[in-house]
Amino acid sequence: MNRHVIRKGKTRRERFGQRRRDDAQAEAAAAWEPRTELGRKVKAHEVTSIDEIFNNGKHIAETGVIDTLLPNLQDEVVEIVSVQRMTKNNRKMKFRATVIVGDGAGHVGIGAAKDIESRAAVNAAIVAAKYNIIPVILGCGSMQCRCGTRHSLPITARGKCGSVEVILKPAPRGLGIVANKPVRRMLQLAGVSDAWSFSKGRTRVKYNSLMAVYRALQGVNSMKNAQSFAVGSAGAEAPQQVAVQPAT
Ligand SMILES: [Zn+2]
Repeated sequence: MNRHVIRKGKTRRERFGQRRRDDAQAEAAAAWEPRTELGRKVKAHEVTSIDEIFNNGKHIAETGVIDTLLPNLQDEVVEIVSVQRMTKNNRKMKFRATVIVGDGAGHVGIGAAKDIESRAAVNAAIVAAKYNIIPVILGCGSMQCRCGTRHSLPITARGKCGSVEVILKPAPRGLGIVANKPVRRMLQLAGVSDAWSFSKGRTRVKYNSLMAVYRALQGVNSMKNAQSFAVGSAGAEAPQQVAVQPAT
């Protein structure tokens, strides 16, 4: 029997699954009871922006802070691999999950966790990724573009993890992200729309590639005058080949 069913929009499961998850996040934020000074301030709406926390160099010790201040945070499971350890009697197997989170507007994080069950590993990795969220300085460092808006990176950034080295270069507006899928996804979650990515080493290990991207983005932050060329810095004076090598 040939029946062609044209589905419009999302399926029931997608719709309800999504709703459940949104509810869950909103509920978690509402039911959250802060246990830290910073948490109480966030709950009382005294601190309303996560950038304020980053600028003051405060440590976030509760996921409630992040759930409240970044309600549009998305998470994505990048890989789940099984890792084995030999014991006296048998092999102990665990799953290692790698998760990236981001709000698509200048905040990104990565986390990994191991557990006997994959589901538990994913949940733990999401929490770890939330704690690892960093602000991403966006800008336009492209010589061809010079538009001065926040669509790309302000400078060329480098990051390393294990054998993998990643170089992220500013690209002109409309080019998109030229990178492999996980790297592209991470840059999207960070809020970067246009960039070139070059990598070398064993890039098959996704965790290492993404950690290298994370460190590259982090390196832009740690530069002393990073804020000064974040926006509107597309002039010829903008440093183009600054290698950023954050300490491991
Ligand atoms: Zn531009």
